[in-house]
Amino acid sequence: MTHSTRTDTARQLAALAHDRILILDGAMGTQIQTLGLSEEDYAGHGSGHVCRHHSELPQKGNNDLLILTQPDAVEEIHFNFAMAGADIVETNTFSATTIAQADYGMEDAVHDLNADGARIARRAMDRATAIDGKPRFVAGAVGPTNRTASLSPDVNDPGYRAVTFDDLRVAYGQQVRGLIAGGADLILIETIFDTLNAKAAIFACYEAFEEHGAKLPLMISGTITDASGRTLSGQTPTAFWHSVSHARPFTVGLNCALGAAAMRPHIAELAGVADTLICAYPNAGLPNAFGEYDEGPDETASQVGEFAAEGLVNIVGGCCGTTPDHIKAIADAVAQYAPRKLREKVAA
Ligand SMILES: [Zn+2]
Repeated sequence: MTHSTRTDTARQLAALAHDRILILDGAMGTQIQTLGLSEEDYAGHGSGHVCRHHSELPQKGNNDLLILTQPDAVEEIHFNFAMAGADIVETNTFSATTIAQADYGMEDAVHDLNADGARIARRAMDRATAIDGKPRFVAGAVGPTNRTASLSPDVNDPGYRAVTFDDLRVAYGQQVRGLIAGGADLILIETIFDTLNAKAAIFACYEAFEEHGAKLPLMISGTITDASGRTLSGQTPTAFWHSVSHARPFTVGLNCALGAAAMRPHIAELAGVADTLICAYPNAGLPNAFGEYDEGPDETASQVGEFAAEGLVNIVGGCCGTTPDHIKAIADAVAQYAPRKLREKVAA
């Protein structure tokens, strides 16, 4: 096979994205919080779904594990986002790597988390499509892990690394193979604070695509964590684009860390340099003192609507704190605007 193999899904997505701004879902975590689940609920004790995997460690807060222990609840959240207007929903697999699951002793569950995570999202999308006939897509969500390959966590030992490129490549490879096995339509590498972690994820994706015999569309989303407009590993949006453009992603963009207002100049910068589609999904404003997000649907939507009015975006959605109401408001706010025109490749 060649890496340029385009699946029917890729063609369908490209055609839809040519016609209108597509909608990504909102925050899974915020929706899970409202369920008020206990340790027993997380671990699956007493529910109809006994986890096939076992760990001695507490599981409360292991949101990804709910794929196995509370699958109906996870499916319902996906379904609600789809009915609010999402064309693409993300699997609940942000931390479903051996590296991130080590915190919970759930490394053995990684394949099932990803495969079932994709299947559950697909089920929810098919239910929504049966109601309104709109095509919908499952993006396999790949998070940054809780370790960083290009910086030392120890200020006294700047040469130390808690994780290597190959550790990440292997862990991401397992995750992506699980997502593909479960039927993910695309892969979304998101909340990238360290570009080296993302490069390991991209490399792992291409290894998995090679085995699978087809390239899934890739969405790549960085996060600006610094007031000076850089990622944690020190890149501006332009530098970030040049570091990942070799992956020929379906979209590049930004998510998390900032609300829409603060994200705007960084999305504008990316839109000015990237010769691919732009995806933006900000948080519902900045967190308050309790780490909660107060920005209401109308406020987030009016700011994201401005991205669209200025012709900066092709796909929009929400990150932390965004609910189905936010997604519905965002979908309504951008509906009247044409998607950003794909810029021609700029000569280097
Ligand atoms: Zn976020």
